[in-house]
Amino acid sequence: MRHKRRAVAARSSFAEGVLAIPAGTTCLAVGCSSADVTACHYVDGRGRRCETYWCPEHVRSVASQPYCPRHAGIVMALNLSARKGHRPDIDNRAPSLANWIGNDMDLGLRKILREVLDRHDAETIVVEPICYVFRAGNREHAWERTWTLANHAGITLRISIGVVESADAVVRVRVGERTLEEVVPPWVEHHRRREGLDPHTDLQERREFYIHLFDVIGEAVGQQRCRRLGLDGGPTDIYPDIPSASD
Ligand SMILES: [Zn+2]
Ligand SMILES: [Zn+2]
Repeated sequence: MRHKRRAVAARSSFAEGVLAIPAGTTCLAVGCSSADVTACHYVDGRGRRCETYWCPEHVRSVASQPYCPRHAGIVMALNLSARKGHRPDIDNRAPSLANWIGNDMDLGLRKILREVLDRHDAETIVVEPICYVFRAGNREHAWERTWTLANHAGITLRISIGVVESADAVVRVRVGERTLEEVVPPWVEHHRRREGLDPHTDLQERREFYIHLFDVIGEAVGQQRCRRLGLDGGPTDIYPDIPSASD
């Protein structure tokens, strides 16, 4: 979902710790005009508030605090992470872009996994919601969606779609630890260049973008499965963990 903001007449202020709601504010949910609203409680690492307002029907609650739908997902993922205290900037696109691409690819990735699932090994498909990953090595704050195959011993195959906060227009596609693509989606690139696009071309570009990602993921998954079965999967049999040039 694109993050919407309603123009408000006055900036929110605090009175005895309670967020004042600007007069005339209505719920931001599409088609909802309720004036019985609560502010999203998200505050980013720089102390900036989300400043969106939601009615009881459309507000989301996480740990008894009200949030907009977008920040509810972010706060839930942060609460599940081992690293506490991190709060991405309110205008950082990493969580929403990773989630957006993940939602668009979900059905296709499940299909790929169903086709290679090893039932004799009791493998099952596990799909995770958006999650926050901190990599201490390069101090990278990433947001990822993952699709895995797992058996009784653990994960046997992992596909991830991630976006790093410091490069929040770039989608990173991985199978295992191997990075297959680091790419700016065409619609994000057009937005960055402030280029308008007719709907037909936009749709065509999106379709080609996803077809390409499914192609590279399908190929990498096939290679991984061949290696796992000890079949000839090409050169990657010999050096299975060779990183791509973009690693
Ligand atoms: Zn509402
Ligand atoms: Zn919010």
